[in-house]
Amino acid sequence: TSETFRKKLHSLDGKSYGALKQLTGAWDFGTFTLHIDKVQSDPYAPASRMHLVIPRQATALPGELTRSAEQRVAAADFIARDLADAIRQGPREYGFVTPGQEILPRSSVVVSESAVQVRFTFQFPAAGRRVKGKLAARLLGERLFDLVKYSAVGERLDPEQLREHVETYTDFSALQGQLSERGLVAFVADGAILPRSAGDSDTPLRSALAFESPEEFRVKFSLPSGREVTGMGVRAGITLIAGGGFHGKSTLLRAIERGVYSHVPGDGREFVVTDPTAAMVRAEDGRAVTGTDISPFINNLPGGADTSRFFTANASGSTSQAANLAEALEIGAKTLLIDEDTSATNFMIRDQAMKQLIAAEHEPITPFVDRVRALYDQLGVSTILVVGGSGIFFGVADSVIAMRSYVPSDVTDRAHQIAGARAKPVDFDFASYSAVTSGRSVVPASLRGSRGSKPPRGRGLEQVQIGKENLDLRYLSQLVDAGQTNAIALALELVARELDRPQNPTQGRHLHSAVLTVIEQLQQQGLDLLVGAAGARAESSARVRGDLVLPRVAELHQAISRWRGLKVGS
Ligand code: ADP
Ligand code: MG
Repeated sequence: TSETFRKKLHSLDGKSYGALKQLTGAWDFGTFTLHIDKVQSDPYAPASRMHLVIPRQATALPGELTRSAEQRVAAADFIARDLADAIRQGPREYGFVTPGQEILPRSSVVVSESAVQVRFTFQFPAAGRRVKGKLAARLLGERLFDLVKYSAVGERLDPEQLREHVETYTDFSALQGQLSERGLVAFVADGAILPRSAGDSDTPLRSALAFESPEEFRVKFSLPSGREVTGMGVRAGITLIAGGGFHGKSTLLRAIERGVYSHVPGDGREFVVTDPTAAMVRAEDGRAVTGTDISPFINNLPGGADTSRFFTANASGSTSQAANLAEALEIGAKTLLIDEDTSATNFMIRDQAMKQLIAAEHEPITPFVDRVRALYDQLGVSTILVVGGSGIFFGVADSVIAMRSYVPSDVTDRAHQIAGARAKPVDFDFASYSAVTSGRSVVPASLRGSRGSKPPRGRGLEQVQIGKENLDLRYLSQLVDAGQTNAIALALELVARELDRPQNPTQGRHLHSAVLTVIEQLQQQGLDLLVGAAGARAESSARVRGDLVLPRVAELHQAISRWRGLKVGS
């Protein structure tokens, strides 16, 4: 009981941190159970990890909003936000991750049919190297009762807000699921607020002009909650977003890029919805490339490097963008998102004057403009492209949207007129392109870092530490939560195991199928699967962690592709 727990903590007052080990285990508090999973070994070690199990009868969660797995993800996300607020205002000994603007599967709160679990950390207060047991008893005991009682798991649940949160998520997924049958790769709702309040903030710009769709692209969706939304449907094929500088082109594309995720009510992007496989493809000079087939885009490099299995520790602007594109195809992206602001010009286009000056046989790059049509016609891969500086793409585009003072309009006919007869697609056959036919096979051990090193771990949003090396994820613009980075770090072991399994002869050790399998397992079995995986290698580890968020297949695959220790097989 909570009384035994209190007494126990009192008896530990003034003891050394080693004595805290006795607390490990489950403590029955009546309406809920406190599980102490891993206690810190000293005051300066990472905080202790614990979780609460609150039976559903003790919560106010309505059954009708938690029936499906999808509803439970959104309900958990809602509770996590409420608890993050409450815990942030409370004693600083508590640690709980604060969610961003996306509604995502998180390990901090897990709602099941029978219980709600809340995972948090607690820093045992110290006087020197001794435990302040009495203070800990007060901070944990009483505070936890309050937290459970006066939060969204208890009395303070606002059922209407919960409903809105859950329906925002389920409507979003329903809309996302309908995109392809409607011939669309993205949808931007009328009334959406696209710009963010600052370059380093993800909250909506209050003074923004709300989005208004051009009539020619307007479509309507009826959603499961009964809600109807209208907005701009971006059709499959090749879409250009054109317009003058500072007229809102990149802002529109960035919203579409984040539209792979559901956003919280009030974000402004709740109904900006994108093909879930969509991948941003940018230049990223300096990245490592390991065995990627970039041959449709780059060939005959000086020095004779084989671009069908391209290796470099230091890619150029164009080769890095080619690798990013090839790897997006490898993992199954059906929509590519490209902004001229972050592209290598020579990867995208080459004009007539340059063609005259530099003969084709001395130019290794076939510009994207000569491949974009075949990508769609043969592989069904659409492209949404922001351009302001060149009209070269007009001839190959299916739709052209002009942004003017943040207002989109349909200028497709005019752009086609300007281009003259629609440019003949440059002939290219993707049928035997290895990135889509087989993909790379990877040596499993190369995902594990050096022998005897600690398991990989996430360090903030942008880095994973593997052994002594850092894996740099700063250019993955669709990686949005440090919890995804943590999950990617742990998922490396699961991918390695998947690659290690007795091989299915048709699949081989293909990286893309291993990544797809792992993410599917995490979706179905939950993020706790990751902790089990790490625990098997680490000397000791708690069974649960509250700091994991589900990544997409794209980001897990992109992370692995950037790992400098990666080794590919034949
Ligand atoms: P472009 O890519 O066309 O040069 P950006 O998308 O970078 O332009 O936008 C330029 C500026 O306009 C940014 O500061 C952005 O926040 C702001 N902006 C974009 N869309 C809107 C909007 N709908 N309402 C108000 N400001 C906007
Ligand atoms: Mg721009």
